[in-house]
Formats: sequence, C-alpha cells, structure tokens
Amino acid sequence: MPAKIIDGKAVAARIRAEIKQKVEERLAQGLSRPGLATVLVGDDPASHTYVRMKQKACAEVGFESFGYKLPADASQEDVEALVEKLNADPNVHGILVQLPLPKHLDDERVLNKISIEKDVDGFHPINIGRLAQKGREPLFVPCTPAGIMVLLEEAGAKLEGANAVVLGRSNIVGMPMALLLVRANATVTICHSRTRDIPAHTRQADVLIAAVGRPLMVKADWVKPGAVVIDVGVNRVDDPTAKKGYRLVGDVDFDAVKDVAGAITPVPGGVGPMTIAMLLRNTLRAAEMQDAKKA
Ligand code: NAP
Repeated sequence: MPAKIIDGKAVAARIRAEIKQKVEERLAQGLSRPGLATVLVGDDPASHTYVRMKQKACAEVGFESFGYKLPADASQEDVEALVEKLNADPNVHGILVQLPLPKHLDDERVLNKISIEKDVDGFHPINIGRLAQKGREPLFVPCTPAGIMVLLEEAGAKLEGANAVVLGRSNIVGMPMALLLVRANATVTICHSRTRDIPAHTRQADVLIAAVGRPLMVKADWVKPGAVVIDVGVNRVDDPTAKKGYRLVGDVDFDAVKDVAGAITPVPGGVGPMTIAMLLRNTLRAAEMQDAKKA
C-alpha cells in the first residue's frame, strides 16, 4: 500500500490561521502586536530569500517585523551591539539572526548575546542545553525539529519505545531533532558522515528523519516497511525541463520510498512550511511570556 503523504503545507496553513486568530484576540484585549526582528548580515542570496519569506509570513499573521541589514564586513561588535539594542526594545519579542553569518564572525558569541526570552530560533546555548537535560525545559525549541514533531503527531507516529534514526547531526536540525525524540521516549540512533553501513541502521527505524543535504540518498531498500519517513533535505538538482533549470528534491528517493513507508513527507511541501510556522508560534509565545512577566 502506498504511504500516507504528510501534507506539511496544509498543517502549517492551519497553524498560521490559529496564530492569526490569536493575534486578533490579543489586539482586541489591548495587548501588543507580536514583533519579530530579523538580523541579516551580508549578501548571501539564500539568506535574503529566507528572511523575506519570514517577514512575509509575519505580515500575514499580523505580526510586526523589524528588518535589520548589516554589511558583509560588519564587525563582531556591530552585530552584538545590534542584538543588545533589540534585547532592550519592548516592541521586539523575538530576535532571529539569520545563519550562516559571514566567516569572520563568531556565531556562537552572537547567539549567546540574544536574550533567552527572545531566542525564538531556540539556538541559544542555554535553550539547547536545557533541551539536552532531563527535567529541564527550554523556553524555545529550534523551529525545524519542532515542526517535525508536529508532523510526526499528525502522522500518528508512536514514538514511545520506537526505534528512531536521525541522519545528520547539525546544530540546527539533526542534533536537536535527536534530543526531542529522546524526550519523547524513542530509542534514538544518530548517523553521520563517519557512520559505517547507514542502511543497516535505517532498516531498523520505525521513524526515519533524513537531514543530510544529499539528494535522494535514502533508497527504498533502506526503509523498514511501514516506517514514518521525514525528509528534511532541500537539494537543487539540474532539470533542463524546469523553468529555472533546476528542481528541488529531498534526501529521500520519494518516488521509490513511498511504496515502502507507512507515511512520508514530500519535498517541497513537507518540513519546509513547518519551519516558518514554528517560528511564528515561538514568537507569539515570546510575546505571551513577556506580557506575563510585565503583569
Ligand atoms: P549540515 O549542517 O550540512 O549537516 C549535514 C549533516 O549530514 C552532518 O551531520 C553530516 O555529517 C551529515 N552527512 C553529510 N553527508 C553525509 C553522508 N553522505 N552520509 C551520512 N551523513 C552525512 O546540514 P543541515 O543544516 O542540518 O541541513 C540538512 C538538510 O536539511 C539540507 O538539505 C538543508 O537544506 C535542509 N534543511 C531544511 C530545512 C527546512 O526547513 N526544510 C531547514 C534546515 C535545513 P558530519 O556531521 O559527520 O559532517
């Protein structure tokens, strides 16, 4: 039986509609409009596109967005001074520093400067540290893994006691994903570029998360029949028949794997839309927490 296709676009649209409704309720109660500040350093075209998409999503749900652009040669002090200014601004509830930063900048020091109460990307070392510790709660969870947890729930995945395999161990996706799955009582294996015989691991997976950035790497015979497969990868492959000359594919060979998996996310339209929906959700939560502190 072909897999259930997990429609991230539809789930994200539902979440965005809920957030929009909550913003209207806040305004009707005389509360502030949630505000997200984006910090973009340099000229990376992909980063510009991501920031534009985030600002557009903010406008659609009724958030205020404050866009800050710094030149590619901005100093560490310039970026940190901007973050400190935003920390102190009561109209800014969430701060997003678009990564990667230019090479001469130390992103760990910048992320460290963000007030943990405005850390809507969830990358502050304290938030990540809490995610890794039993009995501690991060104020915010990184958006892509948080969105995947929502999709797993939508797919009806049973995580307790399940074998979960995460391909990739990056700070922004693989590692926080693995931590969230452990917190949900799954038994987690993390595979990376030095792992021997990756298919031997993935074949044991009830839940398989692919976040490596390698087009169509996960083949049908890597997947346990009935598994829930989440494809985080976004890879450009040449396609002369496409208008732009390329198309986007995931890390999973979707066409083949869909005949083996129980449920699967498409690319595009799976994980991608959830990342922005979770950023909006985190920003709304930040505004609510900051109101509660003032009250
Ligand atoms: P990343 O920082 O490059 O990390 C890639 C991870 O995959 C690393 O841990 C690396 O291992 C591992 N890896 C690379 N090649 C491998 C191989 N051949 N076999 C096994 N493991 C391998 O990438 P990322 O930022 O996590 O992103 C991963 C993918 O997700 C990319 O395609 C990215 O565009 C996409 N993404 C999508 C969203 C979304 O919202 N949809 C958000 C973020 C990222 P080592 O640690 O050993 O180097």
